[in-house]
Amino acid sequence: MIYTKHQQNIAESLNSDSDINDWKDWKWQIRHTIRTIDDFESILDVKFEPSEKNLMAKTLEKFPLAITPYYASLIDRTNLKDDPVFKQAFCSIEELNIDAWDMADPLSEEHDSPVNSITHRYPDRVLFHISSMCAMYCRHCTRKRKVGDRDTIPSKQTLNAGLKYIREHPEVRDVLLSGGDPLMLSDSTLKWLLDEVTAIPHVEVVRIGTRMPVVLPYRITDKLVSILSAYDNLWINTHFNHPREITESAETALRKLTRSGIPMGNQTVLLAGVNDCPQIMKTLMHKLVRNRVRPYYIYQCDLSEGLTHFRTPVSKGIEIIESLRGHTSGFAVPTYVIDAPGGGGKIPVSPNYVVSWSSNKVILRNYEGVICSYKEPDRYHPVQCDLNCRDCSLQLNTDGREYLPPVGIRKLMADYDDKIALVPADNERIKRREND
Ligand SMILES: *Cc1c(COP(=O)(O)O)cnc(C)c1O
Repeated sequence: MIYTKHQQNIAESLNSDSDINDWKDWKWQIRHTIRTIDDFESILDVKFEPSEKNLMAKTLEKFPLAITPYYASLIDRTNLKDDPVFKQAFCSIEELNIDAWDMADPLSEEHDSPVNSITHRYPDRVLFHISSMCAMYCRHCTRKRKVGDRDTIPSKQTLNAGLKYIREHPEVRDVLLSGGDPLMLSDSTLKWLLDEVTAIPHVEVVRIGTRMPVVLPYRITDKLVSILSAYDNLWINTHFNHPREITESAETALRKLTRSGIPMGNQTVLLAGVNDCPQIMKTLMHKLVRNRVRPYYIYQCDLSEGLTHFRTPVSKGIEIIESLRGHTSGFAVPTYVIDAPGGGGKIPVSPNYVVSWSSNKVILRNYEGVICSYKEPDRYHPVQCDLNCRDCSLQLNTDGREYLPPVGIRKLMADYDDKIALVPADNERIKRREND
């Protein structure tokens, strides 16, 4: 049921003459966002201990609160302590614990930022921060440093600077619209921006990263869908963390998007006390694919300040992948990644399946623990690839697109130049050579 008695009570306590049409109006939801502990108590009819409340208030000075009435209505009031929705939405006094390893910007997004709104980390794609607002402030936000501090509409000037950067960088073939939540922009601003980005000839793919289907599914209006579905190269990634979040309202929003032809992915964050359980993750992945949303990533929780209580060891993520791969549909298995502190980007981590290797056989183990051998071909002539593709007998056709010179490990493999090693900039041994 889309409008429960409980939701009606919440709506009426926020605005006495409200009805289901208000509830399903995303702007009404934004206007009635819960931002204080007192409001939370009165709207959900719960009471915190006064001593606890004082500490909670301290967390809000650092990391503000914002919960949509819709997402608040998913909270189980009878068991706040164990509730996965409550934990993602409401402040915990544990947010005040800062570990020695924690950082305000663990992913060094601001170092890899050539202009204000762009993070350019990978060779062919950029993150474009087009909104500094969110409908809900996830307590596990990796950009917690920014939450609420510039809760304004980004200026056209900032957006234009980002667009200019993309136009001037022909290597950018994939643009990720992020934020904040891009769907906090008005329909007209969003359309303007999408028109501008998709008009850039070298941009092949545009992605929107949004949590709206989870925290405010009513944002997915028919009008919005008609705007978004006009772009043939648009993908949307959303952010469900727990099967409880896939409600009828969320499913309706997802169905509108998928029926309009937009491919959907999901990025989950591994969170202690929320979804650090193979059974919960499997249920979540099954519910996602049933709604035609492809599980894309599971993220190890970042080293951002205020997230200590959400972090699990990496082994938990590997255990979750172990419980999925082979046990369920291949396309229900996301890639588990650690976004490397310092700006190294996403690094996949997985159980080991290669047990051993000889000069002609690979020894593998499957999900059942069966050890298998794969005989490699006797007659494969290894090609010394120098990436001179024009002279190669394989029929590469890049549609005229220039190839980027290879970087990193790929470059070592490809005999592209005479580099035979990748050496860290501050390597002691090399420094000694220079000094001698
Ligand atoms: C995650 C991310 C991307 C996109 O990575 P994919 O693996 O292509 O999804 C791009 N830029 C930055 C800075 C990112 O954090």
